[in-house]
Amino acid sequence: MIWNELEDKLADLEREGLARRRRVLETPCGPLARVDGRDLVSFCSNDYLGLASDPALIDAACAGARRWGVGGGASHLVSGHFSPHETLEEKLAAFTGFDRALLFSTGYMANLGIVGALAGRGDAIFADRLNHASLIDAARLSRADHERYPHGDLDDLERRLAASDAKRKLILTDAVFSMDGDIAPLPQLLRLAERFDTWLVIDDAHGFGVLGEEGRGSLSHFGVASDPRVVYMGTLGKAAGASGAFAAGSATVIEWLLQRARTYIFTTGASPIIACALLASLELIRQGEARRQHLRRLADILREGLSGARWRLMPSPTAIQPIVIGDNHETVNVAQALRERGLWVPAIRPPTVPRDTARLRVSLSAAHDEEHVRRLVEALRELG
Ligand SMILES: *Cc1c(COP(=O)(O)O)cnc(C)c1O
Repeated sequence: MIWNELEDKLADLEREGLARRRRVLETPCGPLARVDGRDLVSFCSNDYLGLASDPALIDAACAGARRWGVGGGASHLVSGHFSPHETLEEKLAAFTGFDRALLFSTGYMANLGIVGALAGRGDAIFADRLNHASLIDAARLSRADHERYPHGDLDDLERRLAASDAKRKLILTDAVFSMDGDIAPLPQLLRLAERFDTWLVIDDAHGFGVLGEEGRGSLSHFGVASDPRVVYMGTLGKAAGASGAFAAGSATVIEWLLQRARTYIFTTGASPIIACALLASLELIRQGEARRQHLRRLADILREGLSGARWRLMPSPTAIQPIVIGDNHETVNVAQALRERGLWVPAIRPPTVPRDTARLRVSLSAAHDEEHVRRLVEALRELG
C-alpha cells in the first residue's frame, strides 16, 4: 500500500533516535511551564521580553476582539486589511526607521515572499551558511542561483560577488543566528551590498525588540541608518510576544512586495486581534529598557556561572546562549538530567547544527528571575 513506505520511514526515525515529540503545555507561555503535571523552569521559548502573556497584550487582544471580531475574512488586498493593521505598519516603519512596512502572517512566509519577489531564474543569491531554514527554502523556491558562503566569511562572500555576472544579486543573512546567538557583521555586509549593487535582506527574528536603542533591532545595535537596498524582516512571534512578521524598506521595495510577494497576496490576512495586541506590544518594547537590562544581566549570570565549567558557551551577546556539548547522545542525556531537576532546555542536534556540535540551546527571557538562571548554572556544573 502507498502508506507502507511512510510506516517504514517513521520506524527508522524511531530507531535512530530522531523522532520528535511535542509536549503539551498546561500553562501559558512563561518562565514556568507545567508539562505532564510537572512544573519546569523553561529555557525554550523565544519570548525574550516576557510579553507573550503580558496583561497589556491580553487586554488589547480582548478589546480588539470586541471591536473587530475574530476573523478578517479575506486577504489584505481584497478586504482583510483593517485599520489596526494599517496603524501597526505605520508604527513599525517609523520604529525601525524605514519608509514603509508590510505585515505578513509569519516570518517563514515573509522570507518566502520577500526573496521570491526580488529574485528569480538567472539571478544570484548569496547566503550565510548558518541562515535559518526559511531563508534557505526562500532561496530554493525563488529558482535563483543559490550560493552559500561560510558563516560570517566576508572575504569569501566578496570573491563570490566579484565573480558573479548575474544582473540581479541578493545577499541574505540572519542578523542574530538562531542556533549560535552571534550577530552578523551588518555594516560590512551593507558596504559589500553597495559596492556590488545588491539587495541586502536582513532577517532580524531574534534582534527585533531585544537589540538596539529602544529595541529597534540589529541595525540600530550597529548604529546603521536605513538604506534603500536593505529589506529588513522582523518577526512578531518572538520578543514581540504575539505572532506574525513584517518587512520594512523603501517605499519602492515595499510597494513591490505588496504587488508581488505571493505569500502576502494569496493568504488570508492575520486576525485584526493580533494587530491590536501588537500595537500594545510595540509600546512595551519601546519602554522596555528595564526588561532588556534584566535580560543582559541574566546572560551575565549564566556566562560567569559557567566560566571554567566543562561545556563551552558560545560567544553570544544575545538572549540565545548555546552550550556546546558535541556528542548527540550526551547532549540528549544532559537535557534529560536537567529535566529531572525541573529545568527544561532543548537539545539541538544535527542536521539543525553541524556534526559534533550538538548543543543545549538556552533561551533567556526577561520573565526569568536570577534564581532560575542560578539553578541552571548549578545543575550544569554538577552534571559536568
Ligand atoms: C523563527 C524564525 C523565523 C520564522 O519566523 P516565524 O514567525 O516563526 O515563522 C525566521 N527566521 C529566523 C532567523 C527565525 O529564528
